[in-house]
Amino acid sequence: MKGKVISIASVSCRVDTADGIYECAARRRLTESDTGQTKPFAVGDEVILEPTGPREGVVTEVLPRRTRLSRAQPHDRRAEHVVVANVDQLLIVCSVREPPLTVGIIDRYIIAAQSGGIEPVVCINKIDLAPEPVELVLRSEPQPRKVAYEDIAALYSALGFRVRPVSARTGAGVEELKADLIGRTTVLAGHSGVGKSSLINAIQPGLKLKTGTVTRRGRHITANVSLLKLQFGAYVVDTPGVREFSLWDIKKRDVAEFFPDIWDLAPNCKMSDCSHVHEPDCAVKRALERGELSRIRYDSYVGILESVGHWSVPRETDVERPREQIARSKRNLSRSTRKQQLKERWRAQLGEDQ
Ligand code: GDP
Ligand code: ZN
Repeated sequence: MKGKVISIASVSCRVDTADGIYECAARRRLTESDTGQTKPFAVGDEVILEPTGPREGVVTEVLPRRTRLSRAQPHDRRAEHVVVANVDQLLIVCSVREPPLTVGIIDRYIIAAQSGGIEPVVCINKIDLAPEPVELVLRSEPQPRKVAYEDIAALYSALGFRVRPVSARTGAGVEELKADLIGRTTVLAGHSGVGKSSLINAIQPGLKLKTGTVTRRGRHITANVSLLKLQFGAYVVDTPGVREFSLWDIKKRDVAEFFPDIWDLAPNCKMSDCSHVHEPDCAVKRALERGELSRIRYDSYVGILESVGHWSVPRETDVERPREQIARSKRNLSRSTRKQQLKERWRAQLGEDQ
């Protein structure tokens, strides 16, 4: 019997089938096999199950994933934790204030979404708290920088990302957001307290998701990830708020590819594999000094660069890169369109026909 995983407890899950909802355990083979993943299945997975009793069963197979949102396990960076599978878009929720907006988490989620074949959407909530500015903490500036949320929105729109400024409280922008969700499966993610549950409630009043007040250290509102079906033909997945989001399977040399503005400048750097941090004659740093590249973008890039693993291959083997990327794209079921374009660009540059 086929079904879709709608929620997960420690080693069991709930599966929605044509015959109703089944509580399922995983067949031993699944948990024991070395998948390199922390759990045998994720919310959103299409699975095959064998019923073992009324409304009970065993998952025997997880079908190939169309998309995935993965992060690294905090205590084992090499282990992949699939947060959710088979979603179409990731709504990256942040707020104008309370908690403060940080672009680092937006950019991390953009990388995770695009690596997993998911479209990222930047959702800035609590716009009712403007005209109070966003106080952005930048790694290279001692004082928070005061910025209008519209400037943050413009920054990401200019890079080609969809941006939705909203207020769950006043309802501003909520209709537009709802239109984005129709006919698709969307996962919401962001820091605790940014208003993910409030937004789902604003989109479909009556769903009565628990919302909480923000404490200084942030707190978890929903303990588990679960898939919800909304009345107007949309599925949403709410994830527990996170304080940190560690990228999985991203190497230092991959990071710039997800920063379109930095990536476009890179061909003018003197070093062919410039990291844009300490190399001489760097076009990215030049653009930064001239004010052609936003400090907000550069700081976020450096922050992420410092947090991920090593360069994947030494400089001399640059030529190996396309092959390495191809190998990786086979391993991960789906890569972002941008990655695809990049591969083609690399191939064209190197005159390879494969
Ligand atoms: P979650 O942890 O991301 O699910 O956040 P919640 O939905 O629980 O919201 C956290 C707090 O922010 C609650 O006190 C909400 O009332 C408040 N909140 C949510 N959306 C808005 C908004 O648009 N404007 C304002 N001013 N507060 C909001
Ligand atoms: Zn450079």
